[in-house]
Amino acid sequence: MADTRHQLSSMHIATLSSGMDLALPVMTIDGARKGPVVGISGTVHGDEVVGVQVIRDLWRSLSADQIAGTLVMMPVCNPLSFEALSRNTPLDMLDLNRTFPGSDEGWLTERISHALASKFLNQIDYYIDIHAGGTFPVVDYCYSINDERFARAFLSQLLYRPKQMYPGVSASVTLARGVPTVVIELGGGYIGQAEYIARGVRCIRNMLRAAGMLEGDVETRTGQIALNELKVMRPKNGGLCYPAGDHRPGTEWPGGVALAEIVSIRTFEPIEVIETPFEQNIMVLNRNCVTRVNPGDYAFMVGNMANAERLD
Ligand SMILES: [Zn+2]
Repeated sequence: MADTRHQLSSMHIATLSSGMDLALPVMTIDGARKGPVVGISGTVHGDEVVGVQVIRDLWRSLSADQIAGTLVMMPVCNPLSFEALSRNTPLDMLDLNRTFPGSDEGWLTERISHALASKFLNQIDYYIDIHAGGTFPVVDYCYSINDERFARAFLSQLLYRPKQMYPGVSASVTLARGVPTVVIELGGGYIGQAEYIARGVRCIRNMLRAAGMLEGDVETRTGQIALNELKVMRPKNGGLCYPAGDHRPGTEWPGGVALAEIVSIRTFEPIEVIETPFEQNIMVLNRNCVTRVNPGDYAFMVGNMANAERLD
C-alpha cells in the first residue's frame, strides 16, 4: 500500500462557520497499466457506513501493479452526515442523493453534489455507488440500470431494474453520460457487518475484472433474480416496530403475511400491521429486531416475484 501510486487528496467544498474546512477525502490508485477510470463512492447517505469499510479494504489490498487504469474512491461523500449518522446533511437538512448535479451557488449540500459531479462523476468510465440499509434496516440487492453484465458481476442474488431512478441521485450524472453505473445496497442494521464487508470487497473486485481493470475471469452466478417491481413498505404510524419473524433479504413469502406490528409507545398496543403486499413476495430490506420507526420510514422493501425474471 505504501507506494507513490496510492494517493490521498482532498476535494475542498467550503470553509464552515466554525472555521473548519469541509473537504471530502479522495483516494486514488494509479495503475501500472493503461485502462479505464473506475469511480467508487460511499456514504452519500451518512448513516450507511458499510461502503467506507469496503473501500478501506479495497484501498489496503489492491496494489498498483494489479491495476489497469485508475481507481478513484470517495469513501465519505458527505462527512457532515457521516459524523451525525444522518441520512441528510444536518446543516441544511437536504438529502445529498436528491440534489445532483448540484449548484455552486446553492445550499451547502448542493455545493457538495456540484463538486462531486464536476470533479468526480464527470471524469469516470465506470461508476459503483455503495449504499446500505442505514441505522436500522438490513438490505441486500443491487440496481441493474444501464449495464446488466456489470451489475450481475456484483453477484447479488437480487437485482432491481427500476423504471426510473429517484431524481437527483448521484447515478443520474453518470447515467446521463452513458457510463456503466451500478448502485449497490448492502448490509446495515443492528447486526455484524463482517460478512457484508467481505462480500462487498470480493464482489467489487469481480466488477473491476468486468470493467477490465483487474485481470482474471469474471465470476458469474446462476439463479440471480431481476426484480421489475419493488415496494417500499412505509408505516403510516410511528412507534416501535416489532418484526413478526425472520424476514431476511432473499426469503420468499406469500401474500398477506404479517411482517411487523407497529406498537404505540403510549399504550403499548399495536396500531398498525405491515403485511406482504404482493401475491408472491421476496424480501429485499428488513428490520430484524425491535426498532424505533417513524411514519414514512423505510420499514421493509419487498420485491414482486410474479413479474420477476430468473436469470440463467
Ligand atoms: Zn442510501
